[in-house]
Amino acid sequence: MKNILVLHTGGTISMQEDTQSGAVAPSLDHPLMDFTEAFKNLAHITTKQPFHLPSPHIRPAEMLTLKNLIEAECKQQSFNGVVITHGTDTLEETAYFLDLTLNIHIPIVITGAMRSSNEIGSDGLYNFISAVRVACCNEAKDKGVLVVLNDEIHAAKNVTKTHASNVSTFQSPQFGPIGLVTKREILFHYKPLYREKYDIEQISKRVALLKAYAGMEADVLDAIDDKKYDGVVIEALGQGNLPPCCLPGLKRLRKANIPIIVVSRCFKGVAQDVYDYQGGGKQLKEMGVIFSNGLNGQKARIKLLIALTKTTNQNKLSQIFQDPVCENED
Ligand code: ASP
Repeated sequence: MKNILVLHTGGTISMQEDTQSGAVAPSLDHPLMDFTEAFKNLAHITTKQPFHLPSPHIRPAEMLTLKNLIEAECKQQSFNGVVITHGTDTLEETAYFLDLTLNIHIPIVITGAMRSSNEIGSDGLYNFISAVRVACCNEAKDKGVLVVLNDEIHAAKNVTKTHASNVSTFQSPQFGPIGLVTKREILFHYKPLYREKYDIEQISKRVALLKAYAGMEADVLDAIDDKKYDGVVIEALGQGNLPPCCLPGLKRLRKANIPIIVVSRCFKGVAQDVYDYQGGGKQLKEMGVIFSNGLNGQKARIKLLIALTKTTNQNKLSQIFQDPVCENED
């Protein structure tokens, strides 16, 4: 039988609904602890609870704690897989953080729930069992951190929370899930082509995330410099354009050598240096703005936080944000 390390970190999957008020709050005892029986024919489970937090309370510091804990536990004992339970609000950020920083070849699976443990149609136990089944699967090795909810397996890099309350909230827009959980099998149909690893020991930089809007002015960008952020990610308009009123703020940030990463605020597609007008992507690139290859804003922020622990050099940061592209397109 496989040995699976389970790390409970909190979130709705660990909460209960007050039947009178309908309010959902953390419960004293983790509800999933009662279900060890459900795993008796599936895996040998070792459980740890490094923290018990709603996921809006999770910071990069907790993500780093999780990474260090997984590495330490896997050094001490021979596990076949790791399952992390987590609140869904920031689950994609923790998943991508671990995807970029863990250098471990066993399956790492992260799951959560949209309905708390005592609500009708609660998806917590079901998703937890699915995640353990995926972590036990040899095919799940070397595919990066996997997000498993609602019978789907998603790559950490592409998955995002798309709905505030629906159980099918986790989707990989444009790419789709890389596998499925069925009653009898775990079926993979894709493997992420390109993976990156950053060996980090600490995370101390501050990176802000801004969303562009019609008529956006430079003062919000000035605040990034005033408040001494180390970098900023901007969800720009369309293919990667910004209102011209922003330009003085961008110039100030570049002068202060604060890296600016641009992603698209669109749900799908890639921001690129296409448009050549005031504030257009081509001009932004000439100013030293870095275009990220298709990440969403919150993932680009995680990547910049990690990249800044390695370098503040503009060219190196720019390379880090470029996935390899096909060189020989005819
Ligand atoms: N607010 C909750 C959290 O992220 C939502 C959830 O767990 O699904 O902790």
